[in-house]
Order: sequence, then structure tokens, then C-alpha cells
Amino acid sequence: MYTNVCKHCFKVFKSKFRTLTCPDCRQLDQDHFDDIESYLREYPNSNAIQISEALGITAYEVLKYLNEGRLNISKGYFEQMDD
Ligand SMILES: [Zn+2]
Repeated sequence: MYTNVCKHCFKVFKSKFRTLTCPDCRQLDQDHFDDIESYLREYPNSNAIQISEALGITAYEVLKYLNEGRLNISKGYFEQMDD
């Protein structure tokens, strides 16, 4: 079992797989992912801040999608942010 922190609601939960989305946020996660993907299709060289501002999704969340390997980096350019 892995202990995970949901990137949407920051709830700590356990699961068999390493994941950044708790069961309650799965639909939200998919919706946001679809939004980001279509935004990057239209504006391929956006960074996390621009995506965040355009879609109302936090830059933190956008970077987490990137860390999960779900966004194709070649579609967009992301700047790493310092905490
Ligand atoms: Zn959650």
C-alpha cells in the first residue's frame, strides 16, 4: 500500500498504486486533464503559470500532471517552480 496525497483536495489516502488523485476527485482530475490537454493543443508553448491562469487550475496541479507523466512535454514547455 502507498500513502498518497491528493493533488486536488490534499487528502491523505492509501491505495495499491501510487497516485495523486483520491477516489473523490477522480472525475475532477479527468476534467482538468482534458482541459489542460486541449489548451496545450491550441497553445503548444504554454507554461504551467499560463495554463493555470487560463483554466483556473492551480500551477501546482498542472505540474503534478506533468510529474505523473500524463502530459506530453513535447506539447508544451513547463517551467519548474521553486516552492
Ligand atoms: Zn481529492
